Amino acid sequence: MAKEPNSKLQDIISHCKEYGFVFQSSEIYDGLQAVYDYGQMGAELKKNIKDYWWYSMTRMHDNIVGIDAAIFMHPTVWKASGHVDNFNDPMIDNRDSKKRYRVDHLIEAHAAMLDEAAGKELISKMEALLAADDFAGLKQLIDDNGIKCDISGTGYWTDIRQFNLMFDTQMGSTSTEEDDKVYLRPETAQGIFVNFLNVQKTGRMKIPFGIAQVGKAFRNEIVARGFIFRMREFEQMEMQYFIKPGTQKEWYEYWKETRIKWHKTLGIPAEQYNFHNHVKLAHYADAACDIEYNFPDWGFKEVEGIHSRTDFDLSRHQEYSKKKLTYFDTEENKHYVPYVIETSIGLDRTVMMVLSEAYEEQDLSTAEKQDSRVVLKFAPHLAPIKLAVLPLTKKDGLPDVAKQLMDECRPHFKCFYEEKDTIGKRYRRQDAIGTPFCVTIDHQTLEDKTVTMRHRDSMEQERIPLDKVKDMVLEKIKQF
Ligand code: ATP
Repeated sequence: MAKEPNSKLQDIISHCKEYGFVFQSSEIYDGLQAVYDYGQMGAELKKNIKDYWWYSMTRMHDNIVGIDAAIFMHPTVWKASGHVDNFNDPMIDNRDSKKRYRVDHLIEAHAAMLDEAAGKELISKMEALLAADDFAGLKQLIDDNGIKCDISGTGYWTDIRQFNLMFDTQMGSTSTEEDDKVYLRPETAQGIFVNFLNVQKTGRMKIPFGIAQVGKAFRNEIVARGFIFRMREFEQMEMQYFIKPGTQKEWYEYWKETRIKWHKTLGIPAEQYNFHNHVKLAHYADAACDIEYNFPDWGFKEVEGIHSRTDFDLSRHQEYSKKKLTYFDTEENKHYVPYVIETSIGLDRTVMMVLSEAYEEQDLSTAEKQDSRVVLKFAPHLAPIKLAVLPLTKKDGLPDVAKQLMDECRPHFKCFYEEKDTIGKRYRRQDAIGTPFCVTIDHQTLEDKTVTMRHRDSMEQERIPLDKVKDMVLEKIKQF
Protein backbone atom coordinates (compact mmCIF):
# COMPACT_ATOMS: atom_id res chain seq x y z
CA MET A 1 0.00 0.00 0.00
CA ALA A 2 1.38 3.44 -0.90
CA LYS A 3 2.05 5.55 2.19
CA GLU A 4 -0.06 8.67 2.48
CA PRO A 5 1.79 11.61 4.01
CA ASN A 6 1.27 11.94 7.77
CA SER A 7 -0.90 8.87 7.92
CA LYS A 8 -0.63 7.37 11.38
CA LEU A 9 -2.71 4.41 10.27
CA GLN A 10 -0.26 3.63 7.48
CA ASP A 11 2.57 3.72 10.02
CA ILE A 12 0.65 1.32 12.26
CA ILE A 13 -0.05 -1.03 9.35
CA SER A 14 3.65 -1.07 8.38
CA HIS A 15 4.62 -1.65 11.99
CA CYS A 16 2.17 -4.55 12.24
CA LYS A 17 3.85 -6.22 9.31
CA GLU A 18 7.40 -5.52 10.40
CA TYR A 19 6.91 -6.93 13.89
CA GLY A 20 4.78 -9.99 13.09
CA PHE A 21 1.32 -8.76 14.10
CA VAL A 22 -0.64 -8.87 10.83
CA PHE A 23 0.22 -10.08 7.32
CA GLN A 24 -1.77 -9.88 4.12
CA SER A 25 -3.27 -13.33 3.42
CA SER A 26 -1.42 -15.31 0.72
CA GLU A 27 1.06 -12.47 0.39
CA ILE A 28 3.47 -14.42 -1.83
CA TYR A 29 0.64 -14.60 -4.37
CA ASP A 30 0.05 -10.84 -4.07
CA GLY A 31 -2.55 -11.24 -1.38
CA LEU A 32 -6.28 -11.79 -1.19
CA GLN A 33 -8.29 -8.62 -0.78
CA ALA A 34 -9.65 -7.92 2.70
CA VAL A 35 -8.33 -11.18 4.15
CA TYR A 36 -5.52 -11.08 6.70
CA ASP A 37 -3.38 -13.47 8.73
CA TYR A 38 -2.18 -12.85 12.26
CA GLY A 39 1.52 -13.42 12.85
CA GLN A 40 3.24 -14.57 16.01
CA MET A 41 2.61 -11.34 17.94
CA GLY A 42 -0.82 -10.59 16.51
CA ALA A 43 -2.09 -14.08 17.32
CA GLU A 44 -1.07 -13.64 20.98
CA LEU A 45 -2.63 -10.18 21.18
CA LYS A 46 -5.84 -11.38 19.55
CA LYS A 47 -6.06 -14.40 21.82
CA ASN A 48 -5.54 -12.25 24.92
CA ILE A 49 -8.40 -9.96 23.87
CA LYS A 50 -10.61 -12.93 23.02
CA ASP A 51 -9.92 -14.66 26.35
CA TYR A 52 -10.44 -11.44 28.26
CA TRP A 53 -13.86 -10.94 26.62
CA TRP A 54 -14.78 -14.58 27.18
CA TYR A 55 -13.89 -14.52 30.87
CA SER A 56 -15.55 -11.11 31.36
CA MET A 57 -18.77 -12.58 29.99
CA THR A 58 -18.78 -16.17 31.18
CA ARG A 59 -16.67 -16.26 34.34
CA MET A 60 -17.69 -12.90 35.74
CA HIS A 61 -21.42 -13.44 35.15
CA ASP A 62 -22.94 -16.51 36.80
CA ASN A 63 -25.90 -16.40 34.40
CA ILE A 64 -23.94 -16.27 31.12
CA VAL A 65 -22.62 -19.44 29.50
CA GLY A 66 -20.50 -19.87 26.39
CA ILE A 67 -21.06 -22.12 23.37
CA ASP A 68 -19.21 -22.90 20.16
CA ALA A 69 -21.60 -23.45 17.25
CA ALA A 70 -20.66 -24.59 13.74
CA ILE A 71 -20.05 -22.13 10.92
CA PHE A 72 -22.36 -24.02 8.57
CA MET A 73 -26.00 -24.01 9.52
CA HIS A 74 -29.21 -25.24 7.93
CA PRO A 75 -29.96 -22.85 5.03
CA THR A 76 -33.43 -22.11 6.39
CA VAL A 77 -31.76 -20.41 9.36
CA TRP A 78 -30.81 -17.55 7.04
CA LYS A 79 -34.29 -17.30 5.56
CA ALA A 80 -35.77 -17.15 9.06
CA SER A 81 -33.21 -14.59 10.24
CA GLY A 82 -33.97 -12.32 7.28
CA HIS A 83 -30.43 -12.49 5.88
CA VAL A 84 -31.45 -14.02 2.55
CA ASP A 85 -33.87 -11.17 1.91
CA ASN A 86 -32.42 -8.29 3.85
CA PHE A 87 -28.68 -8.65 4.34
CA ASN A 88 -27.96 -6.21 1.58
CA ASP A 89 -26.05 -3.02 1.24
CA PRO A 90 -27.14 -0.39 -1.29
CA MET A 91 -24.29 0.09 -3.71
CA ILE A 92 -23.51 2.13 -6.77
CA ASP A 93 -20.92 1.74 -9.53
CA ASN A 94 -19.01 4.44 -11.32
CA ARG A 95 -19.40 3.71 -15.04
CA ASP A 96 -16.02 5.18 -15.95
CA SER A 97 -13.77 3.56 -13.35
CA LYS A 98 -16.03 0.49 -12.79
CA LYS A 99 -15.37 0.98 -9.10
CA ARG A 100 -18.14 -0.09 -6.74
CA TYR A 101 -19.04 1.94 -3.65
CA ARG A 102 -21.29 1.40 -0.71
CA VAL A 103 -23.68 4.32 -0.98
CA ASP A 104 -23.42 5.35 2.68
CA HIS A 105 -19.61 5.26 2.54
CA LEU A 106 -19.53 7.36 -0.63
CA ILE A 107 -21.76 10.04 0.87
CA GLU A 108 -20.00 9.95 4.26
CA ALA A 109 -16.61 10.46 2.60
CA HIS A 110 -18.00 13.49 0.76
CA ALA A 111 -19.58 14.87 3.95
CA ALA A 112 -16.21 14.66 5.72
CA MET A 113 -14.77 17.13 3.19
CA LEU A 114 -17.51 19.73 3.76
CA ASP A 115 -17.64 22.22 6.60
CA GLU A 116 -19.17 20.84 9.77
CA ALA A 117 -22.73 22.17 9.36
CA ALA A 118 -23.00 21.18 5.68
CA GLY A 119 -21.53 17.75 6.44
CA LYS A 120 -24.06 17.15 9.20
CA GLU A 121 -26.93 18.24 6.99
CA LEU A 122 -25.84 15.87 4.23
CA ILE A 123 -25.55 12.94 6.67
CA SER A 124 -28.97 13.55 8.16
CA LYS A 125 -30.53 13.70 4.67
CA MET A 126 -28.75 10.45 3.80
CA GLU A 127 -29.93 8.74 7.00
CA ALA A 128 -33.54 9.74 6.32
CA LEU A 129 -33.37 8.37 2.76
CA LEU A 130 -31.67 5.15 3.90
CA ALA A 131 -34.32 4.69 6.59
CA ALA A 132 -37.00 4.97 3.88
CA ASP A 133 -35.08 2.67 1.45
CA ASP A 134 -35.45 5.55 -1.03
CA PHE A 135 -32.79 4.66 -3.62
CA ALA A 136 -33.95 7.18 -6.22
CA GLY A 137 -33.69 9.88 -3.53
CA LEU A 138 -30.18 8.73 -2.59
CA LYS A 139 -29.07 8.81 -6.21
CA GLN A 140 -30.49 12.32 -6.50
CA LEU A 141 -28.58 13.31 -3.35
CA ILE A 142 -25.33 12.04 -4.90
CA ASP A 143 -26.03 13.96 -8.12
CA ASP A 144 -27.15 17.15 -6.37
CA ASN A 145 -23.97 17.22 -4.28
CA GLY A 146 -21.76 16.58 -7.29
CA ILE A 147 -20.18 13.55 -5.62
CA LYS A 148 -17.42 12.11 -7.79
CA CYS A 149 -15.52 8.84 -7.98
CA ASP A 150 -12.01 8.94 -6.41
CA ILE A 151 -10.49 7.16 -9.38
CA SER A 152 -12.18 8.48 -12.53
CA GLY A 153 -13.06 11.86 -11.04
CA THR A 154 -16.47 11.69 -12.75
CA GLY A 155 -20.05 11.59 -11.47
CA TYR A 156 -21.20 9.10 -14.12
CA TRP A 157 -23.03 6.66 -11.82
CA THR A 158 -25.21 3.57 -12.27
CA ASP A 159 -28.50 3.28 -10.40
CA ILE A 160 -28.31 2.12 -6.82
CA ARG A 161 -28.75 -1.62 -6.34
CA GLN A 162 -28.86 -4.02 -3.42
CA PHE A 163 -25.98 -6.47 -2.99
CA ASN A 164 -26.28 -9.51 -0.69
CA LEU A 165 -23.25 -9.92 1.52
CA MET A 166 -23.46 -13.65 2.24
CA PHE A 167 -20.98 -16.14 0.80
CA ASP A 168 -22.51 -19.43 -0.27
CA THR A 169 -21.20 -22.84 -1.21
CA GLN A 170 -22.52 -26.35 -1.93
CA MET A 171 -22.81 -29.07 0.67
CA GLY A 172 -21.99 -32.63 -0.47
CA SER A 173 -19.49 -33.77 -3.05
CA THR A 174 -21.70 -33.89 -6.15
CA SER A 175 -24.20 -31.22 -5.32
CA THR A 176 -25.10 -28.54 -7.75
CA GLU A 177 -28.72 -28.16 -6.69
CA GLU A 178 -29.95 -24.85 -5.32
CA ASP A 179 -31.43 -26.84 -2.40
CA ASP A 180 -27.94 -27.89 -1.29
CA LYS A 181 -26.73 -24.33 -0.99
CA VAL A 182 -25.25 -23.51 2.40
CA TYR A 183 -23.97 -20.18 3.61
CA LEU A 184 -20.88 -19.22 5.51
CA ARG A 185 -22.46 -17.55 8.52
CA PRO A 186 -22.43 -13.74 8.29
CA GLU A 187 -22.81 -13.43 12.08
CA THR A 188 -22.41 -15.80 15.01
CA ALA A 189 -25.71 -14.79 16.65
CA GLN A 190 -27.91 -17.32 14.84
CA GLY A 191 -25.92 -20.24 16.28
CA ILE A 192 -27.00 -18.95 19.69
CA PHE A 193 -30.67 -18.50 18.77
CA VAL A 194 -31.08 -22.00 17.35
CA ASN A 195 -29.47 -23.43 20.50
CA PHE A 196 -31.51 -21.31 22.88
CA LEU A 197 -33.68 -24.18 24.15
CA ASN A 198 -30.81 -26.73 24.20
CA VAL A 199 -28.82 -24.48 26.50
CA GLN A 200 -31.77 -23.29 28.58
CA LYS A 201 -32.96 -26.84 29.26
CA THR A 202 -29.61 -28.61 29.75
CA GLY A 203 -28.17 -25.72 31.77
CA ARG A 204 -31.43 -25.20 33.72
CA MET A 205 -31.04 -21.51 32.96
CA LYS A 206 -33.53 -19.02 34.35
CA ILE A 207 -34.37 -15.75 32.64
CA PRO A 208 -32.56 -13.38 32.53
CA PHE A 209 -29.59 -15.34 31.19
CA GLY A 210 -27.04 -14.99 28.42
CA ILE A 211 -25.28 -17.16 25.86
CA ALA A 212 -21.90 -16.01 24.59
CA GLN A 213 -19.89 -17.12 21.60
CA VAL A 214 -16.68 -16.22 19.76
CA GLY A 215 -16.25 -17.32 16.18
CA LYS A 216 -15.62 -16.62 12.54
CA ALA A 217 -18.11 -14.76 10.37
CA PHE A 218 -17.95 -14.05 6.65
CA ARG A 219 -19.26 -11.12 4.63
CA ASN A 220 -18.64 -10.36 1.01
CA GLU A 221 -18.05 -6.70 1.79
CA ILE A 222 -18.39 -4.45 -1.25
CA VAL A 223 -15.83 -1.97 -0.13
CA ALA A 224 -13.20 -3.98 1.64
CA ARG A 225 -10.66 -1.41 2.64
CA GLY A 226 -9.35 -0.37 6.00
CA PHE A 227 -6.96 -3.14 6.98
CA ILE A 228 -8.47 -5.43 9.65
CA PHE A 229 -11.35 -3.00 10.25
CA ARG A 230 -13.41 -4.42 7.39
CA MET A 231 -12.54 -7.94 6.36
CA ARG A 232 -14.32 -10.60 4.37
CA GLU A 233 -13.44 -13.22 6.97
CA PHE A 234 -13.42 -11.97 10.53
CA GLU A 235 -14.23 -12.92 14.09
CA GLN A 236 -17.09 -11.77 16.27
CA MET A 237 -17.63 -11.96 20.01
CA GLU A 238 -21.36 -11.95 20.60
CA MET A 239 -23.63 -12.35 23.57
CA GLN A 240 -27.39 -12.76 23.49
CA TYR A 241 -29.14 -11.92 26.73
CA PHE A 242 -32.61 -13.49 27.03
CA ILE A 243 -35.08 -11.40 29.04
CA LYS A 244 -38.73 -11.02 29.93
CA PRO A 245 -40.70 -9.03 27.31
CA GLY A 246 -41.23 -5.48 28.51
CA THR A 247 -37.89 -5.30 30.37
CA GLN A 248 -35.83 -4.57 27.26
CA LYS A 249 -35.27 -0.85 27.94
CA GLU A 250 -33.65 -1.38 31.31
CA TRP A 251 -31.48 -4.29 30.08
CA TYR A 252 -30.46 -2.32 27.01
CA GLU A 253 -29.22 0.47 29.29
CA TYR A 254 -27.55 -2.06 31.59
CA TRP A 255 -25.59 -3.60 28.72
CA LYS A 256 -24.60 -0.21 27.27
CA GLU A 257 -23.09 0.69 30.61
CA THR A 258 -21.49 -2.72 31.20
CA ARG A 259 -19.89 -2.81 27.80
CA ILE A 260 -18.45 0.72 27.90
CA LYS A 261 -16.94 -0.09 31.31
CA TRP A 262 -15.28 -3.14 29.74
CA HIS A 263 -13.89 -1.02 26.91
CA LYS A 264 -12.24 1.33 29.38
CA THR A 265 -10.43 -1.60 30.99
CA LEU A 266 -8.57 -2.13 27.70
CA GLY A 267 -6.38 0.80 28.70
CA ILE A 268 -8.29 3.23 26.47
CA PRO A 269 -9.55 6.51 27.98
CA ALA A 270 -13.26 7.39 27.99
CA GLU A 271 -12.86 10.34 25.59
CA GLN A 272 -11.72 7.99 22.85
CA TYR A 273 -15.19 6.37 22.83
CA ASN A 274 -18.55 7.54 21.65
CA PHE A 275 -22.08 6.11 21.58
CA HIS A 276 -23.83 6.45 18.24
CA ASN A 277 -27.59 5.83 18.39
CA HIS A 278 -29.04 4.32 15.22
CA VAL A 279 -31.63 6.27 13.28
CA LYS A 280 -32.24 3.51 10.77
CA LEU A 281 -32.96 0.40 12.81
CA ALA A 282 -32.20 -3.07 11.44
CA HIS A 283 -35.24 -5.19 10.62
CA TYR A 284 -35.05 -6.95 14.00
CA ALA A 285 -34.33 -4.10 16.41
CA ASP A 286 -36.40 -1.74 18.60
CA ALA A 287 -33.30 0.17 19.79
CA ALA A 288 -29.66 0.02 18.72
CA CYS A 289 -26.41 1.87 19.18
CA ASP A 290 -22.75 1.49 18.33
CA ILE A 291 -19.77 1.97 20.56
CA GLU A 292 -17.35 3.92 18.38
CA TYR A 293 -13.63 4.41 18.82
CA ASN A 294 -11.70 7.44 17.63
CA PHE A 295 -9.36 5.80 15.07
CA PRO A 296 -6.31 7.71 13.84
CA ASP A 297 -6.94 9.42 10.47
CA TRP A 298 -10.61 8.29 10.36
CA GLY A 299 -12.20 9.58 13.57
CA PHE A 300 -15.03 7.74 15.31
CA LYS A 301 -15.98 4.35 13.80
CA GLU A 302 -18.03 1.41 15.06
CA VAL A 303 -16.34 -1.31 17.08
CA GLU A 304 -19.33 -2.84 18.85
CA GLY A 305 -23.08 -2.90 18.34
CA ILE A 306 -25.63 -3.17 21.14
CA HIS A 307 -29.05 -4.14 19.87
CA SER A 308 -32.43 -4.65 21.45
CA ARG A 309 -33.63 -7.41 19.12
CA THR A 310 -37.12 -7.96 20.57
CA ASP A 311 -38.42 -11.53 20.09
CA PHE A 312 -37.79 -11.28 16.35
CA ASP A 313 -35.22 -14.07 15.97
CA LEU A 314 -36.78 -16.66 18.27
CA SER A 315 -40.25 -16.01 16.83
CA ARG A 316 -38.97 -16.36 13.28
CA HIS A 317 -37.14 -19.60 14.09
CA GLN A 318 -40.30 -20.85 15.77
CA GLU A 319 -42.27 -20.03 12.64
CA TYR A 320 -39.79 -21.57 10.17
CA SER A 321 -38.80 -24.64 12.21
CA LYS A 322 -42.32 -25.25 13.57
CA LYS A 323 -40.70 -26.00 16.94
CA LYS A 324 -41.76 -24.18 20.08
CA LEU A 325 -39.09 -21.83 21.36
CA THR A 326 -40.84 -20.54 24.45
CA TYR A 327 -39.75 -20.29 28.04
CA PHE A 328 -41.89 -21.14 31.04
CA ASP A 329 -41.58 -18.39 33.60
CA THR A 330 -42.35 -19.95 36.98
CA GLU A 331 -42.78 -16.58 38.69
CA GLU A 332 -45.27 -15.34 36.10
CA ASN A 333 -46.69 -18.83 35.63
CA LYS A 334 -46.77 -18.41 31.84
CA HIS A 335 -44.97 -19.30 28.63
CA TYR A 336 -43.47 -16.60 26.44
CA VAL A 337 -40.91 -16.06 23.69
CA PRO A 338 -38.07 -14.16 25.41
CA TYR A 339 -36.81 -10.80 24.21
CA VAL A 340 -33.11 -10.39 23.49
CA ILE A 341 -30.45 -7.77 24.08
CA GLU A 342 -27.36 -8.45 21.99
CA THR A 343 -23.82 -7.19 22.40
CA SER A 344 -21.77 -7.80 19.27
CA ILE A 345 -18.14 -6.80 19.02
CA GLY A 346 -15.66 -7.46 16.22
CA LEU A 347 -12.52 -9.15 17.53
CA ASP A 348 -10.36 -7.92 14.66
CA ARG A 349 -11.69 -4.37 15.01
CA THR A 350 -10.86 -4.54 18.70
CA VAL A 351 -7.33 -5.66 17.84
CA MET A 352 -7.06 -2.70 15.49
CA MET A 353 -8.42 -0.35 18.16
CA VAL A 354 -6.00 -1.64 20.80
CA LEU A 355 -3.08 -1.35 18.36
CA SER A 356 -4.11 2.18 17.34
CA GLU A 357 -4.34 3.33 20.93
CA ALA A 358 -1.06 1.68 21.91
CA TYR A 359 1.09 2.93 19.02
CA GLU A 360 3.33 5.88 19.84
CA GLU A 361 6.38 7.35 18.11
CA GLN A 362 8.54 9.11 20.69
CA ASP A 363 11.38 11.53 20.16
CA LEU A 364 13.91 10.83 22.90
CA SER A 365 16.64 13.16 21.61
CA THR A 366 18.85 14.95 24.09
CA ALA A 367 21.39 17.75 23.60
CA GLU A 368 24.04 15.05 23.12
CA LYS A 369 22.33 12.68 20.73
CA GLN A 370 19.35 12.07 18.53
CA ASP A 371 17.15 9.19 19.59
CA SER A 372 13.61 7.93 19.08
CA ARG A 373 11.53 4.86 19.65
CA VAL A 374 8.26 3.28 18.60
CA VAL A 375 6.44 1.87 21.57
CA LEU A 376 3.21 -0.10 21.81
CA LYS A 377 1.71 0.85 25.16
CA PHE A 378 -0.61 -2.14 25.54
CA ALA A 379 -2.44 -2.64 28.81
CA PRO A 380 -0.21 -5.29 30.45
CA HIS A 381 -2.96 -7.94 30.50
CA LEU A 382 -3.31 -7.70 26.70
CA ALA A 383 0.38 -7.53 25.76
CA PRO A 384 1.55 -10.49 23.62
CA ILE A 385 4.64 -10.93 25.79
CA LYS A 386 4.58 -9.93 29.43
CA LEU A 387 8.23 -10.28 30.40
CA ALA A 388 11.53 -10.27 28.51
CA VAL A 389 14.43 -11.93 30.32
CA LEU A 390 17.77 -10.51 29.20
CA PRO A 391 21.14 -11.71 30.49
CA LEU A 392 23.66 -8.86 30.16
CA THR A 393 26.25 -11.15 28.57
CA LYS A 394 26.39 -14.69 27.28
CA LYS A 395 29.10 -15.56 29.79
CA ASP A 396 29.79 -15.99 33.50
CA GLY A 397 26.71 -18.10 34.17
CA LEU A 398 24.28 -15.19 33.54
CA PRO A 399 22.26 -17.18 30.93
CA ASP A 400 21.80 -20.00 33.49
CA VAL A 401 20.22 -17.63 36.01
CA ALA A 402 18.08 -16.11 33.23
CA LYS A 403 16.88 -19.53 32.09
CA GLN A 404 15.94 -20.49 35.63
CA LEU A 405 13.80 -17.35 35.80
CA MET A 406 12.24 -18.27 32.45
CA ASP A 407 11.40 -21.74 33.83
CA GLU A 408 9.79 -20.19 36.90
CA CYS A 409 7.67 -17.66 34.94
CA ARG A 410 6.81 -19.60 31.76
CA PRO A 411 3.84 -21.55 33.18
CA HIS A 412 2.21 -18.32 34.39
CA PHE A 413 2.60 -15.90 31.48
CA LYS A 414 4.29 -15.52 28.10
CA CYS A 415 8.00 -14.72 28.42
CA PHE A 416 10.73 -14.02 25.90
CA TYR A 417 14.44 -14.77 26.25
CA GLU A 418 17.17 -12.93 24.38
CA GLU A 419 20.92 -12.63 24.81
CA LYS A 420 21.95 -11.02 21.49
CA ASP A 421 22.86 -7.29 21.03
CA THR A 422 23.23 -4.51 23.55
CA ILE A 423 20.66 -4.14 26.28
CA GLY A 424 19.53 -0.81 24.74
CA LYS A 425 18.75 -2.47 21.40
CA ARG A 426 16.97 -5.32 23.12
CA TYR A 427 14.79 -2.85 25.09
CA ARG A 428 13.83 -1.07 21.85
CA ARG A 429 12.77 -4.33 20.23
CA GLN A 430 10.59 -5.16 23.24
CA ASP A 431 9.09 -1.62 23.16
CA ALA A 432 8.16 -2.18 19.52
CA ILE A 433 6.14 -5.29 20.38
CA GLY A 434 4.72 -3.80 23.56
CA THR A 435 6.37 -5.94 26.26
CA PRO A 436 5.60 -4.12 29.52
CA PHE A 437 8.50 -5.53 31.60
CA CYS A 438 12.13 -6.39 30.88
CA VAL A 439 14.45 -7.94 33.43
CA THR A 440 18.21 -7.73 33.07
CA ILE A 441 20.40 -10.31 34.77
CA ASP A 442 23.89 -8.90 35.42
CA HIS A 443 26.96 -9.64 37.53
CA GLN A 444 25.42 -8.06 40.59
CA THR A 445 22.61 -10.65 40.32
CA LEU A 446 25.20 -13.35 41.05
CA GLU A 447 26.26 -11.53 44.21
CA ASP A 448 23.01 -10.27 45.76
CA LYS A 449 20.23 -12.01 43.80
CA THR A 450 18.71 -8.76 42.53
CA VAL A 451 17.84 -7.81 38.94
CA THR A 452 17.05 -4.62 37.01
CA MET A 453 13.38 -4.37 36.18
CA ARG A 454 12.76 -1.94 33.32
CA HIS A 455 9.28 -0.48 32.76
CA ARG A 456 8.22 0.03 29.14
CA ASP A 457 6.17 3.25 29.39
CA SER A 458 8.28 5.29 31.83
CA MET A 459 11.55 3.57 30.82
CA GLU A 460 12.35 3.67 34.52
CA GLN A 461 14.56 1.00 35.98
CA GLU A 462 14.50 -0.36 39.49
CA ARG A 463 16.45 -2.98 41.32
CA ILE A 464 14.25 -5.75 42.72
CA PRO A 465 14.89 -9.20 44.23
CA LEU A 466 15.09 -11.97 41.62
CA ASP A 467 12.60 -14.08 43.56
CA LYS A 468 9.98 -11.27 43.44
CA VAL A 469 9.92 -10.96 39.62
CA LYS A 470 7.21 -13.54 38.93
CA ASP A 471 4.80 -12.19 41.57
CA MET A 472 5.38 -8.59 40.56
CA VAL A 473 4.50 -9.34 36.93
CA LEU A 474 1.52 -11.47 37.95
CA GLU A 475 0.20 -8.59 40.06
CA LYS A 476 0.50 -6.14 37.12
CA ILE A 477 -1.20 -8.37 34.55
CA LYS A 478 -4.20 -9.24 36.71
CA GLN A 479 -7.36 -8.96 34.62
CA PHE A 480 -10.03 -8.76 37.30
P1 ATP B 1 -20.49 -1.94 9.59
O1 ATP B 1 -21.61 -0.92 9.62
O2 ATP B 1 -19.15 -1.37 9.94
O3 ATP B 1 -20.50 -2.77 8.35
P2 ATP B 1 -22.25 -3.66 11.02
O4 ATP B 1 -23.14 -2.68 11.72
O5 ATP B 1 -22.73 -4.33 9.81
O6 ATP B 1 -20.80 -2.99 10.75
P3 ATP B 1 -22.72 -5.74 12.90
O7 ATP B 1 -23.51 -6.56 11.98
O8 ATP B 1 -23.44 -5.00 14.00
O9 ATP B 1 -21.79 -4.73 12.08
O10 ATP B 1 -21.55 -6.65 13.51
C1 ATP B 1 -21.08 -6.49 14.83
C2 ATP B 1 -19.60 -6.18 14.85
O11 ATP B 1 -18.88 -7.07 14.01
C3 ATP B 1 -19.25 -4.80 14.34
O12 ATP B 1 -19.40 -3.83 15.35
C4 ATP B 1 -17.80 -4.97 13.93
O13 ATP B 1 -16.95 -4.78 15.03
C5 ATP B 1 -17.73 -6.40 13.48
N1 ATP B 1 -17.73 -6.47 12.01
C6 ATP B 1 -18.79 -6.40 11.18
N2 ATP B 1 -18.41 -6.51 9.90
C7 ATP B 1 -17.06 -6.66 9.93
C8 ATP B 1 -16.06 -6.82 8.92
N3 ATP B 1 -16.37 -6.89 7.64
N4 ATP B 1 -14.75 -6.94 9.30
C9 ATP B 1 -14.41 -6.89 10.61
N5 ATP B 1 -15.31 -6.73 11.59
C10 ATP B 1 -16.61 -6.62 11.27
